[in-house]
Amino acid sequence: MILNVVKFGTPVLRQKGLRIEAITPTIKRLIADMFETMYAHKGIGLAAQQVGIPTQLTVIDVRGVTDRPSSLEIKGEPADVATFMPLVLINPEITPMGNPVSGPEGCLSFPEIFAEITRPDTVDVKALNAEGLPLEFRCAGLLARAVQHETDHLHGILFIDRMEKKVKEELRPELELLQAETKAELKT
Ligand code: ZN
Repeated sequence: MILNVVKFGTPVLRQKGLRIEAITPTIKRLIADMFETMYAHKGIGLAAQQVGIPTQLTVIDVRGVTDRPSSLEIKGEPADVATFMPLVLINPEITPMGNPVSGPEGCLSFPEIFAEITRPDTVDVKALNAEGLPLEFRCAGLLARAVQHETDHLHGILFIDRMEKKVKEELRPELELLQAETKAELKT
């Protein structure tokens, strides 16, 4: 089922997600629905907050983007990114490893708003997978950017919080308009 993606101005986007303690049928359904929703919107990542549920769950699939490379290491060995997709991260914890790099980012909760965001190029990730089993890997490039963007969502952090002040200032009219539209919609 395609779920409604909430927009900037919806309070749940600022909520820290509760940790998931068990992979219940409800969580399994949510994972499937989040993938369906993400693919329907041609996104490469979606966090549970974005479908209105403040919980530590995100889905990622970077295969749709071919011009921005990703790399992956599992137990110190290079691994194939495509076969590692689609990716479910439950209760993820990330450790930044690489140098900060700037790259373009968008967000399904901020339609048509894009900006350069600086983040570490490489991160180590510890999480549970869709079966509730431990997952550990190191990633870089677009995948590392997606993992960081989505993990931020799980803590109520949005990409506008990571923008340079000047960039955010330039986007202010669009952000204020989006927020006002969302708040007006929530009232109806
Ligand atoms: Zn986002």
